[in-house]
Amino acid sequence: MSRNTGKRCLLHTCCAPCASYVLEYLTPQYDCTLFFYNPNISTKLEYDKRLDELFRYNKDAGFNADIIDGGYDGNIFENAVIGLEDAPERGPRCDICFRLRLAKTAELASDFDLFATTLTVSPHKNTTQINTIGASFEKYLPSDFKKNNGYKRSIELSKQYNLYRQNFCGCRYSVNSCGQRPPVFSRGSLTCS
Ligand code: SF4
Repeated sequence: MSRNTGKRCLLHTCCAPCASYVLEYLTPQYDCTLFFYNPNISTKLEYDKRLDELFRYNKDAGFNADIIDGGYDGNIFENAVIGLEDAPERGPRCDICFRLRLAKTAELASDFDLFATTLTVSPHKNTTQINTIGASFEKYLPSDFKKNNGYKRSIELSKQYNLYRQNFCGCRYSVNSCGQRPPVFSRGSLTCS
């Protein structure tokens, strides 16, 4: 059983399915506050769907953690990745995407003991890439949340709470890499995020 350290963790959160297991894992150890900061998401509609699901899961699963909405400004991401539109997933566009989100979280983490990100629960993302960028900021907690059946557990929880599981990573470029359009609001679909 994990020990409660009494420390405050700012958890960068990309979506409810990824947060599901990570919150379950971290909450016994840390007092978690969720930070939803994702300017990479393709549209405000998609952004709101993911954020709404995060609020719902947080309440329904009984965590009742504080959630900070970092606000949506897709221009921040689009301007940062100019010239990298055709880069493959896990490539240099994702470097910039991770750095944008983790840098903002690190700024806010000055009031916390440490910060982490839910991004490493996904088997579709490069954990080393994420942790290398995270480690360039103070207070970063390296992670590989997919380990020890973390990803499997996130799927179980997503089913249990009927969470919306998007089928693309987030940016408009990742829509094409999944070979499909951004979904109309749907539940229980497969994800590639
Ligand atoms: S594929 Fe995912 S991680 Fe990479 S740039 Fe797009 S949203 Fe960011």
